[in-house]
Amino acid sequence: MRGTMMDYPLTLAHLFERNRLLFGQREVVTRLSDKSLHRYTMAAFSRRAQRLAAALQKAGLRKGDRVGTMMWNTYAHLECYFGVPLAGGVFHTLNFRLHPTDIEYIANHAEDRFIFVDDVLLPLLEPVRAKLKAERVFVVSLTGKPIPPGYEDYEAFLGNAPEAPSPVELNENDAAGMCYTSGTTGKPKGVAYSHRSIVLHTLVAGQTDAIAVSGRDTMLIVVPMFHVNSWGLPFCGIMHGAKMVLPGPHLDALSLLDLMEREKVNFAAGVPTIWLGLLHALDKEPGRWALQPGLRTFVGGSAAPEGLIRGLDKHGVKVIHAWGMTEMSPLGTVGRVKPTLEQQSDDLLYELRAKQGMPNVFVDMRVVNEQGVAPWDGKTMGELQVRGPFIAACYFADDSQKDKWTADGWFITGDVATIDPEGYMKLTDRTKDLIKSGGEWISSVDLENALMGHPSVKEATVIAVAHPKWDERPLAVIVLKEGATPEPKAFREFLAAKFAKFWVPDGYAFVPEIPKNPAGKFLKSKLRDQFADWTWGEPE
Ligand code: AMP
Repeated sequence: MRGTMMDYPLTLAHLFERNRLLFGQREVVTRLSDKSLHRYTMAAFSRRAQRLAAALQKAGLRKGDRVGTMMWNTYAHLECYFGVPLAGGVFHTLNFRLHPTDIEYIANHAEDRFIFVDDVLLPLLEPVRAKLKAERVFVVSLTGKPIPPGYEDYEAFLGNAPEAPSPVELNENDAAGMCYTSGTTGKPKGVAYSHRSIVLHTLVAGQTDAIAVSGRDTMLIVVPMFHVNSWGLPFCGIMHGAKMVLPGPHLDALSLLDLMEREKVNFAAGVPTIWLGLLHALDKEPGRWALQPGLRTFVGGSAAPEGLIRGLDKHGVKVIHAWGMTEMSPLGTVGRVKPTLEQQSDDLLYELRAKQGMPNVFVDMRVVNEQGVAPWDGKTMGELQVRGPFIAACYFADDSQKDKWTADGWFITGDVATIDPEGYMKLTDRTKDLIKSGGEWISSVDLENALMGHPSVKEATVIAVAHPKWDERPLAVIVLKEGATPEPKAFREFLAAKFAKFWVPDGYAFVPEIPKNPAGKFLKSKLRDQFADWTWGEPE
């Protein structure tokens, strides 16, 4: 049957316009390098984003051209998120924590024509500037210092532009944004987000049973804007007119807590490492910060240990645990408790909240192993596959990874999981991090989450190390809290109370720090190299 609804493109231009028309009085607050606060209204944001779009057009930006950003979470970065697509371009967030040669590879692979960079990050771009294909590099001054020669001033670029861009006809399937995965092996791979995928993701993420974003919120976005578009939160904030608080370069616990108190933040998002730091600070000085009642935190990127969820609850901070990937825009699942499960014991509820959660609207999810599609029994492990309108169909200009998609169109996540009868997914490992001992799989994630609940442990991870008899055995690598003593026996007993005997690590190594990748995830590959020659003693 023909003739139904209007063919209305789902584009970022609509979200932007909605914000411009309705929420001009709301604020965007950014912490600058010297810790002072930059604040302006969303009306000012709209004017500047439009000028940026016009400036890019004037500079010759063509539809579909990529524009790199190498920036902290700031107002100028937010301007790029919208200004670039309004001009018909694709904003491409560069992860400045990568090695400069990786940044060079990524910016050139994406063919970024222009790059915007914070002055404080310029030293990371400077070593590879000569090798970049980018025609012009614009610098945002977060310090107020003059722009060095060879670079252009972002403010002058905006100042010399018309007030608004010429209208661009946007198709909802045009690319709007782009991000390379922070995968720890192989060359980085690019994911291009379409206008449509971002809009659908924004609608889904904001739902009450997902992340629940409303215009009443004041959101602190700690997760970097270069990491999967800060999990899509800037789009939610703009669409709903939430007040946005951006921490700039200051991500230590005390700076964040001060900002949360001062700006009355009631919703914040970041990886578990950030929240472990905050929990530590809150435990040390309970009552120092007047946080908003009902403060919620959106935690993802790696597993939120049960101990973290319990610990933050004690300070009145509610964790919403979510799982996703760069390839998924990123939101796949959210760990909300269904009303029909609320009557369970506290222990079971915490266990549930530590799971990665139920699939969001428009995310199909299945677990597949050698026997085929696994039942939702909460026990059968397999490779997690997903499908949906905000999940990548391929990598940008890279045909080498076709085996990441099944013949029937599912994306193979590389995560190993179970799904329980209620539909809660529990991630048990990355395919490459699983431990196979005596032919049986052991989940390193379960063990490390348990270890992180031990009162002496600051951080812990569990890796596979070759073993003469069992093929592989788990080795726990632990960072102790200040003043705690390294006692392998005590840890073994602690874990033995919770896990099958063969799961309990035989070895315990104590280190000052666990190496992490730029997104704050444990670099297990590095630890596996470091402990490759570990000698297994007799269990005590
Ligand atoms: P990225 O694309 O860098 O965001 O990394 C995605 C990967 O991070 C996923 O495939 C998971 O392995 C891991 N990850 C993300 N969220 C979680 C979570 N809540 N629990 C455990 N692992 C997670």
